[in-house]
Amino acid sequence: MRYAILADVHGNLAAFDAVLGRIGEVDGVWCLGDNVGYGPEPNECVTGVMAFSGPVVAGNHDLGAIGKTSLDLFNPYAREACRWTSEVLDEDCAAYLRSLPKMAHPLEDVLLVHGSPRDPLWEYVLTLSQAEEILQSRDERCIFVGHSHIPFVFRWLGKAPEIIPLVEGRLALDRGSKYLINPGSIGQPRDGDPRASFMIFEPDELEIEYRRVAYPIERTQAKMADVGLDHFLIERLSLGE
Ligand code: ZN
Repeated sequence: MRYAILADVHGNLAAFDAVLGRIGEVDGVWCLGDNVGYGPEPNECVTGVMAFSGPVVAGNHDLGAIGKTSLDLFNPYAREACRWTSEVLDEDCAAYLRSLPKMAHPLEDVLLVHGSPRDPLWEYVLTLSQAEEILQSRDERCIFVGHSHIPFVFRWLGKAPEIIPLVEGRLALDRGSKYLINPGSIGQPRDGDPRASFMIFEPDELEIEYRRVAYPIERTQAKMADVGLDHFLIERLSLGE
């Protein structure tokens, strides 16, 4: 079996389409939330995500855009983008976002969550000590998270976690370890590489494939300018920061 793992699409249709064009044959598409927010095409992206068999979990921006979490928790740029998104989101898309769970188990030993299992919407997992606490407290072999927009693989060998340097291509996971994995962001990468980021997961072979895809950034930027989204958000797409 082969699954695509997507995160943080953020209403960036050009990036989303570029990734969909590169996924190839899969048995399912799993989505780690933040389908909307920041980007200029939230309805188109949610409609695309709705077509997946899933599961799809909710991100903080998904719930911010439908009034299910307080906008006070967002930074000013994110808050403004959330407000704009909530104004343009159509009813079907809003209802779909309202229906999303905060966590999902697509397979028995695989957990999907936007932030982390202990704080599904808001925790940015970035450090070894966070990875250690989370992996120690969970039984799943693989936990996939989004939210930070930074792709990573933490491996837990039972004593201390380690971070595995990511290079594009396949990575064999080992059966005796547990993993905390972020596929990176499709719609707003923040690791210095502006290309959309995603992963393919093959649970039987226990392998992941890390991929980056170039997309027409200027198309998304022009649409953002058209609808009046903030200049800072437009610029950061070019930088991948
Ligand atoms: Zn996000």
